[in-house]
Amino acid sequence: MSDGGGNDRAPRFPLLLDRMGRAGVTTKPRETLRPQRPLHEAAKDAGRQAVPLGLGLDSASVRRQMVQRLRVEGLRCEAVAAAMHQVPRHLFVDSALAIQAYEDTSLPIGHGQTISKPSVVARMLELLFDGAQARASGHLGRTLEVGTGCGYQTALLAQLAPRVVSIERLRPLFDKACVHLMSWRLDRVRLIHGDGMLGHGPNAPYDSIIAAAGGDELPLAWLDQLAVGGRLVAPSSRPGGRGQVLVVVDRNEAGCVRSEHEAVHFVPLRSGIA
Ligand code: SAH
Repeated sequence: MSDGGGNDRAPRFPLLLDRMGRAGVTTKPRETLRPQRPLHEAAKDAGRQAVPLGLGLDSASVRRQMVQRLRVEGLRCEAVAAAMHQVPRHLFVDSALAIQAYEDTSLPIGHGQTISKPSVVARMLELLFDGAQARASGHLGRTLEVGTGCGYQTALLAQLAPRVVSIERLRPLFDKACVHLMSWRLDRVRLIHGDGMLGHGPNAPYDSIIAAAGGDELPLAWLDQLAVGGRLVAPSSRPGGRGQVLVVVDRNEAGCVRSEHEAVHFVPLRSGIA
């Protein structure tokens, strides 16, 4: 199960699978996106929910409604919309919370972590899909995800990319994601229990890198492992304790170009494994 990366552990899925330069900063201030919310609030809400319009959660209609709402809120990328319509989010959360799975809300996934709210996932994937490589090829290419969590976004990435390496530092969540993704395009996905701050050298470079947890700085390993033409999307702290923003880094022949987007509020990026 070891992937040759120290503490890394990867399930033996059948695999088809197989630095920082100049910086220009632009800021597009928008409202703060909150992918996470306190666990006690989510748990309390669970008891109050009804299945939307009396439909079963397995119904594609429920997902279609979610995607329609995302479109109204600004989702334009058809590939991301199709992926979100395809992946049953309720199968990635605790059954007691499944009824809330198609609301635009974050939900607890255990161990103090949460599945990000659909609108934030959609926004990040849309930003990723707007990178040079993705625009040219129509897919995300070799993709690295940091923070597998329950595996929902991993399943979306598997719709959008031919190869996905996803790293989770918490063993119980890694195990949970393995179960959730057991039947989900396994030929494309490689799950790793490891420290995503180190990226994953053996499969680098990546055309797309996406992180679901934010630190003070973007780890240098991510920038090192970003392919020319590739794009990175991650939450990162603004200087001076002014919260987090979504940061996009595009790598070209000359180096890396960084831009800042919406204010966000993600769980912290932590080093090491547990
Ligand atoms: N996209 C996930 C969101 C999970 S929350 C989902 O759909 O469920 C963010 C995750 O990042 C948490 O599971 C947390 O354990 C993980 N994380 C934080 N720091 C990490 C690191 N250095 N390496 C790997 N995973 C990390």
